[in-house]
Amino acid sequence: MSARTLFHRGEWAAAESGRTFAVHDPATGDTVGEASDGGAVDTARAVTAAHDAFPAWAALPARERSAVLMRWNALLLSRQEEVARTLVAENGKPIKEARAEVAYGAGFVEWSAEEAKRIYGETIPFSVPGKRHIVLRQPVGVTGAITPWNFPLAMVTRKVAPALAAGCTVVLKPAEQTPLTAAIAIKLLAEAGAPPGVANLVTGSDPAPIGHTLLTDPLVRKITFTGSTEVGKLLMRGAADQVKKLSLELGGCAPFLVFADADLEKAAEGLLWCKFRNAGQTCICANRIYVEEAIYDEFLKRFTEKVRAIRVGCGLAEETQLGPLIDAAALAKVEEHVDDARRHGARVFCGGRRLTEGSLARGNFYEPTVLASASGAMRCMREETFGPVAPIAPFRTEDEAVRLANDTRYGLAAYFYTRDVSRVVRLMERLEYGIIGANDPSPAVPQAPFGGFKESGIGREGGKFALEEFLEVKHVCLGV
Ligand code: NAP
Repeated sequence: MSARTLFHRGEWAAAESGRTFAVHDPATGDTVGEASDGGAVDTARAVTAAHDAFPAWAALPARERSAVLMRWNALLLSRQEEVARTLVAENGKPIKEARAEVAYGAGFVEWSAEEAKRIYGETIPFSVPGKRHIVLRQPVGVTGAITPWNFPLAMVTRKVAPALAAGCTVVLKPAEQTPLTAAIAIKLLAEAGAPPGVANLVTGSDPAPIGHTLLTDPLVRKITFTGSTEVGKLLMRGAADQVKKLSLELGGCAPFLVFADADLEKAAEGLLWCKFRNAGQTCICANRIYVEEAIYDEFLKRFTEKVRAIRVGCGLAEETQLGPLIDAAALAKVEEHVDDARRHGARVFCGGRRLTEGSLARGNFYEPTVLASASGAMRCMREETFGPVAPIAPFRTEDEAVRLANDTRYGLAAYFYTRDVSRVVRLMERLEYGIIGANDPSPAVPQAPFGGFKESGIGREGGKFALEEFLEVKHVCLGV
């Protein structure tokens, strides 16, 4: 990949400053590519391109926008291996997970393509004779999309596809760590027939000027962001000046509850996936685990055996189940959380250290870790650890479990395992979360709403809900 990773008006370009930045493999620290270091001027150009392209794109028959997206979906799937390998090179996740991410990411494109044809208006019965009430749904306009590194493809498609389906045009700013996957995605979208200016890309090593331009340029009507709650709040403050529309998919601190009547084997397997997928770097991964006292020791033993068997290594090796953390800062945070837990009385059942042996020496590897006797005093039970650490605490009653689960400023995902149907209903109603995994560790699918309560966000992605975020509702009152 050359360093021309800015894309606007259908052309690849270098940054105005001429600067580039290196992209690193988190498994080795090696440079795997270069990206253009875009800034404010580059972003403004991309915004103008998106603005110029908007009227024609919005005016296209829905089935033509849909056809572009269908071709994008097909291209992503036919290039699955190439995209997955680029994704592993800059993100580090195991290749099997990367392939699954490409399929999952393409799923948003397919679903959005189908939904593009179903953006319905309405008529409302009149109360005054001689008036008619018509409701139109129209695209919001130029959209700034800001994405994180943990799902370098799926977070891009989850935003760009519904935005385009709705008739919006986009300026995409991917994470500094993973610009190459985003560049491939945009290249394939152009190949699929997206007209120049419809989808634009600004890569950069400093997000501040790019973000500032998206927030302050009046041509941008909407910001859709996935990332940390802290940056989300910053964008929310910045968007206030122009009352820009905002969708925020932010951090989580997911509780995972295991009741004594659960299928323990399924619960342990589910937790293994939910906790260690992407090395624990997913916004919906189990962050704090609560297990009913009666089965606490048994569950801990069963789960720890499985964790000990996890194969850690470079993501490109087919047998790898857990790759490196994204960078040194992520590794340092995990180390801090485990040290803090130790100081507060956690017992380390397995793991609890950085891995530096052999081929792991140059990467950001942390051993899959189980911490017993976890408590609310520990940072890992209150903050998002974003790493392969499973802190497990006991609880006595259902009420206590619900209180512990809801005792957080976050509200993205929550999980529970039980065989009691009445309890399933009680918990799904009482847990203050946007996504619930009831006897299921993997609730995210392209057709379902994805988003959080409280400080985990505003709005929803996925399925028909995603398109609503990119549409304005217009009431036409017609005198007859
Ligand atoms: P982050 O630091 O908030 O970064 C996310 C994106 O925002 C990156 O593209 C980043 O650019 C950009 N950014 C940072 N500061 C900015 C600013 N001042 N103006 C404009 N853009 C700015 O988050 P992260 O560490 O990459 O991602 C992990 C977080 O994302 C976790 O909290 C996780 O829970 C959350 N997440 C949420 C969801 C969800 O759907 N709710 C999904 C995935 C991840 P740079 O890379 O250049 O810094």
